[in-house]
Amino acid sequence: MTALLIAEDVEDIAMILQRVFTRAGMEVMRAPDGAEAFEMALAHRPDVILTDLGMPRMDGWDLIKAVRGDAGLADTPIAILTGQLQPGDARVGEAGACALLLKPCPNDELVSVIRGLADGGPHGHTFSAAGCVATHQRVTT
Ligand SMILES: [Zn+2]
Repeated sequence: MTALLIAEDVEDIAMILQRVFTRAGMEVMRAPDGAEAFEMALAHRPDVILTDLGMPRMDGWDLIKAVRGDAGLADTPIAILTGQLQPGDARVGEAGACALLLKPCPNDELVSVIRGLADGGPHGHTFSAAGCVATHQRVTT
């Protein structure tokens, strides 16, 4: 079973996401900010991380940095879910994220992207604009 860690500070959105991915047959963990998400990632080793960007304590960018900087977690696939970026934003690849999903994102798109990342499994990341984005970023509009 795919274990998905969701970092999202807005309770309503986190609940909806949890329902969507639970229905899709995944085991879902939720954290209300990046700091707690990182602690949960260290403790539970999720298969995929889905993170919001704007969050208290530690934002999504810093969460990605922390995961990529941890030897045990570095290869974990990460998707960003946000309304703050435009498709193709170079910072997504520079941060070492695998996919950018834009709010509001249709449920079937959410599930197919996360499933794709889970199926692809852990993989190395380069930290340049031409890195992960060029190889497998999926963008929705
Ligand atoms: Zn990746």
